[in-house]
Amino acid sequence: MNDNKLTRREFLLRAAALGAAAAAAPAIMAGCTSGGGGGTAGGITCDTSGLSDAERTMRQSLNYVDQTPNPAQRCDNCQLWVEPSAAGQCGGCQLENLGPVHPAGWCTAWVAAG
Ligand code: SF4
Repeated sequence: MNDNKLTRREFLLRAAALGAAAAAAPAIMAGCTSGGGGGTAGGITCDTSGLSDAERTMRQSLNYVDQTPNPAQRCDNCQLWVEPSAAGQCGGCQLENLGPVHPAGWCTAWVAAG
């Protein structure tokens, strides 16, 4: 089981790195607030107004959503989740070019933490 998680994680990280070559500076958590902008879930809103084309493309390719369709799989229990600097804000993702990530979000790259 653990081998599958690591293999999948490595694959995703490599795929993201290839897709993000020479990308803009990390935008993890950039523009992430609890008010204004992009999708809202659980009282937290991620401001996606500053997303780059690469970030929009990556979010679409991974079917990223601010509200998970499966409560058991959320960004904040994903192995690739990056905690926000303060409570009540959007966090980030170790995958490049995703922009602000909602704690209740989800994408097809979700990997169980631990
Ligand atoms: S589920 Fe969320 S934290 Fe996990 S890879 Fe997708 S965007 Fe990143």
